[in-house]
Amino acid sequence: MTEDVREIVIVGGSIAAVTAADTLRRHGHEGSITIVSDERYTPYVRPPLSKGMLKGAETVESVFMAPLRPDVAFRSGCRAVGLDRERRRVLLDGGEELPYDGLVVASGARARRLGPPEAGELVVRDLDDALRLRAAFAEAGSLVVVGGGFLGMEIASTARGLGLEVTVVDQDPPLVRQFGGFLAEHMTRAAVDEGVRLVRSPGTVELVGGAPVTAVRTADGLLLEADVVVSAVGDVPNVEWLAGSGLGGPEGLLVDDRCRVAPGVVAAGDVVTRVSDRTGRPRRSPHWGSAIDQARAAAQALLKGDEAPVYRPAPYYWTEQWGLDIKICGRILPGATPEILSGSLDERSALIRWTHEGVPVAAATVNHRMPVVKLRKLATASDPVPPAFLEGARG
Ligand SMILES: Cc1cc2nc3c(=O)[nH]c(=O)nc-3n(C[C@H](O)[C@H](O)[C@H](O)COP(=O)(O)OP(=O)(O)OC[C@H]3O[C@@H](n4cnc5c(N)ncnc54)[C@H](O)[C@@H]3O)c2cc1C
Repeated sequence: MTEDVREIVIVGGSIAAVTAADTLRRHGHEGSITIVSDERYTPYVRPPLSKGMLKGAETVESVFMAPLRPDVAFRSGCRAVGLDRERRRVLLDGGEELPYDGLVVASGARARRLGPPEAGELVVRDLDDALRLRAAFAEAGSLVVVGGGFLGMEIASTARGLGLEVTVVDQDPPLVRQFGGFLAEHMTRAAVDEGVRLVRSPGTVELVGGAPVTAVRTADGLLLEADVVVSAVGDVPNVEWLAGSGLGGPEGLLVDDRCRVAPGVVAAGDVVTRVSDRTGRPRRSPHWGSAIDQARAAAQALLKGDEAPVYRPAPYYWTEQWGLDIKICGRILPGATPEILSGSLDERSALIRWTHEGVPVAAATVNHRMPVVKLRKLATASDPVPPAFLEGARG
């Protein structure tokens, strides 16, 4: 038996929140839906913030999502600061209490910082961050990026495209954790070919100066000075507002296989952690596609309980850097073996699949057009690969 859910509150103002609201209406919810977001903007799309928008190729207006449906109330500049689960109330920063029958936690994540908030450290998480960095690039000749993950390398690529001297510093080789050695090595070569300097620090770096940061000191004492320093060292789930409610921890908000957290509470997106089917350990999947899929599952679970479909993760993410448009389905597990199915990386267009212990686990396109549905099937298709899969148009 599912509870009678009339009033639904959604905390968070981005893709997980918007998708949850939309799914609730599509699945027949007729009661109220109120989204509270602490941002001053209506919902916008984050991926361009480190790519086209940062470069200036896309306008600020183009990042905003389509207007919300009129039957969903959206309250911007409104922060949830507490949760009273017993009385089913979300506590807001002005002292107001919002009653709910059902709660969707979609408060996402924020940029991890190396220094205290007042240190003037630049990051790219929200629209204001991207606008600040874009303005800084217009005046700058050089950039140091701390962090060689997706975000760091995208920022580096954008800045290099704008003509800045770019250094990327990290403890590990860039992109290895995300891409595995094979593709990471290729991407690293592409970055170096574009004139980027890569520096390894044998430990945590130190930011030098403050408001603005003017340099980075590596763990072995190398001083890297630049006009602009930006940190791209991961994210932190926004769970602090749940303190005292018994929900949430440093790794995020643990959900079950239908994205449920507790009676009347579901969660979706970057705030979520769930037990991996493969390792049995909690794992976050902070990607756009996961936020959408989880929000759909969470909204249905709120309305239908055990009758709602189980959430089956189907990882999909993408990146654009060094003129390479990369889309990946599945997980490139450590030790997985890559195989080029079509094209070649040297020709800058390829279709790649990874197998682990003989089983396909991931597939990627590099400047190669293929519908995501097809790529997803390829990531899990059994051998041999049906020829029809390889007939995709080369990009
Ligand atoms: C620069 C950048 C580039 C990216 N590029 C890609 C990409 O190419 N491909 C990809 O797959 N993914 C990409 N991502 C990741 C993707 O954007 C995220 O996975 C996605 O935004 C997660 O959506 P979300 O709704 O869960 O959380 P978020 O987008 O983090 O939104 C959470 C919202 O909740 C609000 N909030 C937080 N706490 C509170 C509170 N207490 N009260 C009220 N509101 C609150 C926040 O201000 C925010 O508006 C990128 C992320 C960034 C930052």
